[in-house]
Amino acid sequence: MNEEVVAGRRPVLELIRSGRAVNKILYAEGAQGIGQLLAEARAAGIVCQQVDKRKLDQSAPGVRHQGVAALAAEREYAELEDLFAAAEAAGKIECCGLLIGNVRNGMGQDGVAQVREILPALNVAEAPERAFEIDPRTLLAAHRSARKRGEAILGWYHSHPSGVALPSTCDAERAAENGKVWVIVAGADMAAYVAVQQGDVAGRFRPLPLRVISPEKCKEAMNGNG
Ligand SMILES: [Zn+2]
Repeated sequence: MNEEVVAGRRPVLELIRSGRAVNKILYAEGAQGIGQLLAEARAAGIVCQQVDKRKLDQSAPGVRHQGVAALAAEREYAELEDLFAAAEAAGKIECCGLLIGNVRNGMGQDGVAQVREILPALNVAEAPERAFEIDPRTLLAAHRSARKRGEAILGWYHSHPSGVALPSTCDAERAAENGKVWVIVAGADMAAYVAVQQGDVAGRFRPLPLRVISPEKCKEAMNGNG
């Protein structure tokens, strides 16, 4: 299995909160200030293993690991198809999550937004069957880790369990004119919009064409050849 080693207290904590798959956490005996980190990891069902400090030195060579390292599953390209499954699994509740990636030429008519990662988040809305609110902890952790990779949170997705793939009045009220991408899943339909100052859809959105392309084609498009 391909794994990525993330070392150090803060990076490991951010990784746990990002919701990304973590295979294992290794920590050294007597490591300071990792109690909270281990508690959150265990609560998330991640195996935490105490190891000799030398083993950590080997796992994260040349890195200041502060007595803790995580073995993260390698990042995979996002599959938009996964959103249908997520919406179905959430049942009567609106599922939601983040779209992470890069933008070329801004979010105007000529812009290209490349979603590289889809990160599911907990819907913490008061009435999650009628609205969605992304867990702010996921939002913050994702923002930090995306920025480190030169990526950004492009927008979010959510589902309409018994509606259509169109932004609701409530969505329009909550959307800022900030160019964020909104993907909405309803049954077998999926549609994308960008939040703008004045739009044809609910007064706040412009429809956005969705295209699923291979990682190679994606690279070409982002480099300006596609
Ligand atoms: Zn909605």
